[in-house]
Amino acid sequence: MKKRKPPNFRKKACQEAKKIARILAGFICEHCGKGEPERQTHGSHIYSEGKNPNMSADVDNIICLCWLCHMGGLKIVSARVFSWHGTPREAQDWFETKFPFLKVILRERSKKTMLIINWEQRYRELKKLRIRYESPV
Ligand SMILES: [Zn+2]
Repeated sequence: MKKRKPPNFRKKACQEAKKIARILAGFICEHCGKGEPERQTHGSHIYSEGKNPNMSADVDNIICLCWLCHMGGLKIVSARVFSWHGTPREAQDWFETKFPFLKVILRERSKKTMLIINWEQRYRELKKLRIRYESPV
């Protein structure tokens, strides 16, 4: 019998958190103000997933950006055009100016590296929350 790969609940929780962050932002880019359906939006981590896996499914740690403001500087547009990954220094400055309190909160949170998270439980909680946000009032 073939062994089935166990689900990666951290990844799944992270996807739910990204969706919630986009719903809360109204699918509008926090940087340029353009949004869906004209411009696809992404949930982008503020503290990276690699360095801060504990914050990867933290809705506060996810910012809604359009694909251009998120990835734009990488290949498609010149590196001089603002984008989260293409011009990280400018992106950091912009973020700290626009969200000064969040910056402090997240910095404090990022120090709690020993926190152990039950990712399956976290995923189920976020999924429930996302469904609640998505259902019409
Ligand atoms: Zn944008």
